Amino acid sequence: MDLTDNHHLKQERSEPCPGTLYLVGTPIGNLGDLSPRAKHILKNVSLIACEDTRRSGNLLKKIDSKAPLLSYHKHNFKSRQSRLLDELKNNGSIALISDAGLPGINDPGEELVNAARSNSFEVICIPGPCAAITALVISGLPSERFCFEGFLPKKQSLRKRRLEDISKEHRTTVIYVSPHQLIKLLEELSILCGENRPIQIARELTKRYEESIGSTIEEVIEYFSINKPKGEFTLVLGGSKKNEESKISESEVLNKLNSLIKQGEKSNIAAIKISKETGYEKKWLYSKLHKKLDK
Ligand code: SAM
Repeated sequence: MDLTDNHHLKQERSEPCPGTLYLVGTPIGNLGDLSPRAKHILKNVSLIACEDTRRSGNLLKKIDSKAPLLSYHKHNFKSRQSRLLDELKNNGSIALISDAGLPGINDPGEELVNAARSNSFEVICIPGPCAAITALVISGLPSERFCFEGFLPKKQSLRKRRLEDISKEHRTTVIYVSPHQLIKLLEELSILCGENRPIQIARELTKRYEESIGSTIEEVIEYFSINKPKGEFTLVLGGSKKNEESKISESEVLNKLNSLIKQGEKSNIAAIKISKETGYEKKWLYSKLHKKLDK
């Protein structure tokens, strides 16, 4: 890989290419994350398609780009398509940007990429920040295999089904959530996944007040009961351990619990330890303990 300035200049001279759609990653909070290549493309394409012309106008002013802007968002993407394809047909080059982050990840993009490809135009990504990946890699949760859920549906029946699937998923799951939906979502996850489930919440990534809040659902609910959610959040949920850890049966789990108590451990501490070891819910273990005491 040649990363010398020379190579960089060569690249700047040859891009943007006519008849090419560029998906350009823009910062999710820190302007310093806009790459030199992204700046170059944004200054030299014949048209920039963006979600919000005012918001992107501010970014483009900062880098002194004079490229014309065309709004392209979830309410007008169908009607804009032919105008954008004409631009490519006429040997123009387009940069598609979203309000923040990588276009095509939970914002318009997919349809335009599809249309450009179907019409045999080149599509190139100028990679940049993506909240989902940024949150995942700092979470400390397994990242070898993971799922991305974006925003969960608002419609109750769809949402319930999606949440049930997420709660059973063995891989780490990344979810986008607005600040006013955060506590509701955590409570829903707590019921389905149990309060011990590992979680890391990334707040205000790349910005001045960036923070990571974890490490179990119970702990983050407690945190947000004191600190009102403000800013932007990406939630990274650890996978379910159920039926994964050598399929320990319920009776084996209860034997483990009883033997720990017989060894002198307090029942609530024993339940916490066994829950961590086996992935069985703490609440379920407690309920079994109480049933025994009731008998
Ligand atoms: N395409 C974007 C990307 O690549 O990240 C995502 C766009 S999506 C419409 C916006 C959501 O991404 C926010 O509601 C939030 O969940 C997440 N997000 C964006 N910026 C963030 C940040 N700085 N910190 C945490 N989450 C962020």
